Amino acid sequence: MFNIIKSKALNGIWCQCSGATKTHFNVERLAAVFLLSHRRLESSSSRDGVYDIIISGGGMVGTAMACSLGLDANLDGKRILLLEAGHKKEMDKAPETYSTRVSSISPGSATFLSGLGAWDHVMNMRCKPYQKMQIWDACSDALLTFEKENLQEEMAYIVENDVVVAALTKQLQTLSDHVDVKYKTRVVKYKWPMGCQMADSIPWVQVTLATGEILQTKLLIGADGPNSMVRQEAGIPTVKWDYDQSAVVAVLQLSEPTENIVAWQRFLPTGPIAMLPLSPTESSLVWSTSHRHAEELLAQDEESFVDAINSAFWSNDNHTELTEKAGSMFGSALSVLMPSSTSTRQLPPSVAGISPKSRVRFPLGMGHASEYIRHRMALVGDAAHRVHPLAGQGGNLGFGDVACLTQTLSQAAFNGKDLGDVQHLLEYETERQRHNLPMMTTIDLLKRLYSNNTLPFVLMRSFGLQATNSLPLLKEQIMAYASR
Ligand SMILES: Cc1cc2nc3c(=O)[nH]c(=O)nc-3n(C[C@H](O)[C@H](O)[C@H](O)COP(=O)(O)OP(=O)(O)OC[C@H]3O[C@@H](n4cnc5c(N)ncnc54)[C@H](O)[C@@H]3O)c2cc1C
Repeated sequence: MFNIIKSKALNGIWCQCSGATKTHFNVERLAAVFLLSHRRLESSSSRDGVYDIIISGGGMVGTAMACSLGLDANLDGKRILLLEAGHKKEMDKAPETYSTRVSSISPGSATFLSGLGAWDHVMNMRCKPYQKMQIWDACSDALLTFEKENLQEEMAYIVENDVVVAALTKQLQTLSDHVDVKYKTRVVKYKWPMGCQMADSIPWVQVTLATGEILQTKLLIGADGPNSMVRQEAGIPTVKWDYDQSAVVAVLQLSEPTENIVAWQRFLPTGPIAMLPLSPTESSLVWSTSHRHAEELLAQDEESFVDAINSAFWSNDNHTELTEKAGSMFGSALSVLMPSSTSTRQLPPSVAGISPKSRVRFPLGMGHASEYIRHRMALVGDAAHRVHPLAGQGGNLGFGDVACLTQTLSQAAFNGKDLGDVQHLLEYETERQRHNLPMMTTIDLLKRLYSNNTLPFVLMRSFGLQATNSLPLLKEQIMAYASR
């Protein structure tokens, strides 16, 4: 806005002065007076406690949101505030031990983070690219392999969540002239603007902090995670259910050093188990299973836990003669029809130990807010949608929201519109729901398909996996879809 007014002001002055009498001196003085008074006008908004945008929640998505808005040229001059209940995550180099919370970051998200200037910081700290993914069923021999034709290209990157946040935090510090950040600051209440006819109506959203301080904003962005208070206080209906599953995560030490460029996922009758590469000697475990089994896994001594992991990846106890025969006949038929498209089965590395205190569990669920926006409010990331981790997409969907909302607000600012106006916020909602809903439905269907271990389901998914594996074009499309 500032830039547009600046150029409009200059244009106007040049127009008026066009002709033989125009002088640089007069124009620059006039422009300087105008710009100074304009800046004062704009910055006065935060001095009286009214921010243009407040982002509630500074996890991976909220911090990316603050960076993205802060970097946008059309939003230059807007006062932005990020509120985070936790402490500031700062690091110049990665800690010696790996964190248990890691995410598979898609190439699309990496490009987005690169645009924010944060990806270089991530690469300088710690990040493991992988080129291949092998998915297979514990009830049959069916196998699906995704790999980049050019093995120099990355399929995705495994990055610790803390590293992503720290990289974004570092970038955010460069924007401190117009993006404020308050850490260890919890919001305890939101008050929404009423119609102007109400006697005590306030035009902005009121944000009450745990300290009692009250702030106001023209647009509130809820990035406060799956139990979003913003979403709940706005009364937005949410479709949600628990999966009756927990994810047990841990940092695994491999038996011997390997290239470690493959992400492994096996569908067990109790849920998927995944081993994601971190370094030549370490990988990250995400084992989704029943709550009771998860508790047992957490209570086991290290040796039994490691045995359970190796057995989950290697054992064929769930195979039956029938599924093996049917699968092998189907596989032979496919290899006759498409001889060049079969992939060789690789074996996952065996696990020798786990890093101390790295075993934690998270309850899993699915949730989708029926509305992402209201007047003066928008939701991003897990506050708007929560998915099962089996496809490694939750954070990536959140970064997609951030890119889209920034674009929408940037355009609104360029056109001189009120940022909290529902009209342009609706464009954000439509675009993101169009992207997020099909992805969420696919993930939920996959979860259900692999939760049923009756023979027809086992056969159906085994044939489906084998058939998909023999169709390179379909695999390319799936990869492209998941890479965004
Ligand atoms: C086991 C597991 C594996 C996963 N693997 C992947 C993967 O491989 N790839 C992927 O893309 N995604 C993955 N995900 C999903 C991903 O972790 C989430 O989608 C992502 O972290 C959501 O980020 P967020 O910033 O929206 O929410 P959160 O990370 O929940 O952050 C919300 C923030 O808001 C703050 N907050 C909350 N309430 C308040 C308040 N009242 N006041 C102030 N601050 C507040 C919190 O302190 C927190 O920092 C996985 C998830 C799990 C559980």
